[in-house]
Amino acid sequence: MTIRTRFAPSPTGMLHIGGARTALFSWLYARHLGGEFVLRIEDTDLERSTDEATQVILDGLKWLGLDWDGEPVFQGLRKAEHVVAAEQLIEEGHAYRCYCSREELDAMREEQRANGEKPKYDGRCRHRSDRPEGAPFVVRFRSPDEGETVVRDMVLGDVVFNNAELDDLIILRSDGSPTYNLAVVADDAAMGITHVVRGSDHLNNTPRQIQLYQALGLTPPQFAHIPLIHGPDGAKMSKRHGAVAITEYREAGFLPDAVVNYLARLGWSHGDDEVFSRQQLVELFDLAQVGKTASRFDQQKLDWLNAHYLRESAPAELAVQVAGLMDVDTANGPDLEAVIPTLQERSKNLLELAAGARFFYQRPQAFDEKAVNKNFKPETDALLDAFVQQAAALDDWSAETIHALIAAVCEQFEAGMGKLAQPIRILISGGSVSPPIDATLALLGRAETLERMQQGREKLSAR
Ligand code: GLU
Repeated sequence: MTIRTRFAPSPTGMLHIGGARTALFSWLYARHLGGEFVLRIEDTDLERSTDEATQVILDGLKWLGLDWDGEPVFQGLRKAEHVVAAEQLIEEGHAYRCYCSREELDAMREEQRANGEKPKYDGRCRHRSDRPEGAPFVVRFRSPDEGETVVRDMVLGDVVFNNAELDDLIILRSDGSPTYNLAVVADDAAMGITHVVRGSDHLNNTPRQIQLYQALGLTPPQFAHIPLIHGPDGAKMSKRHGAVAITEYREAGFLPDAVVNYLARLGWSHGDDEVFSRQQLVELFDLAQVGKTASRFDQQKLDWLNAHYLRESAPAELAVQVAGLMDVDTANGPDLEAVIPTLQERSKNLLELAAGARFFYQRPQAFDEKAVNKNFKPETDALLDAFVQQAAALDDWSAETIHALIAAVCEQFEAGMGKLAQPIRILISGGSVSPPIDATLALLGRAETLERMQQGREKLSAR
């Protein structure tokens, strides 16, 4: 049997991390078993669904590298099939037209409450055979009154629902539009979905869906409900815990591999391992190792993983991404690909990498006052003079020769290396933080280094 899983987002907003993780688990399960992963855009809520949201979801999945098979299916285009399913259910006695008005339903619930009962539809239209001309109706599924429906969940185990608790669900609204449970069942069946992997917030829908499958004469798929993501305080993950939209992570300079690795570990484990390449995830992932309880979002761990992936990435790849984030022209200066390795160890994300690389392409506009006061001393000028003089005469301009030169000058003046390195750093970058000074100056080039030093010294002495 070919495994076929799906991701079925409603395009009513962003792709949030919970949805992305659901998509990831569904994708991983399919890829692990050599199956297919398909997309269904559940755009039946016409008021809230937008093309823009669909695009954001597709872009987010692409960014994460979760490729899908075939073209996405748009649920809204399948309405006719949903209606056919509803009609089949009516014909076979599994569904009926309900003509109850809002007032009637309100009065019924009122009475139930007054009698201390839980309000639910009492099935009064089940046996109704008249069809009042022109009167609006909904179609309700005739759910069994007795017995149990068991969800044999691949993550949660058996979850038993008492049929008496489930009232007769509306499957077609009075405007003829299908409701979620009918549409999902009809579509999952038509799309040949073998495994439904989704958030545990849908668990309560599942017994109803199983009943619909049975009534339609279809075999239900396997279900796997993934526990929700909580914030560090144990409450359902929301904006106040940090970024929830996948686009926010992209904009904050996270790498998709890091986010995928992090999301995979959010609910799934393989021993105590934390770092998994995409390929390892595909090899190792199984629903059997998904935990039954909610996972806690841990920003530090995500940051740590991101820094890890940043260190491991090829400079050429990072250069492409960093170039897109810079507001200065990287054609004016050293090859960005050569600059990246000097910053990889010290950056947590692409934004830090871009910020760290910036000064290579733009001369300092201003100087960090505090750093200047701390590092420019009466003896500094003599050290700088000696460095500039000998730098002009160096045969070869490389990190090694520059390092040796700084060391020689400092020795000559019996000063620590920082006494010269820091003032140079400030003159060429404007601040006191940069990659190692020798590699930095080598990348900047001799002419640019000396030019910046001279300009900087003029500016500082003019103050
Ligand atoms: N469209 C539903 C949602 O976005 C998912 C339905 C499902 O996975 O069955 O929550």
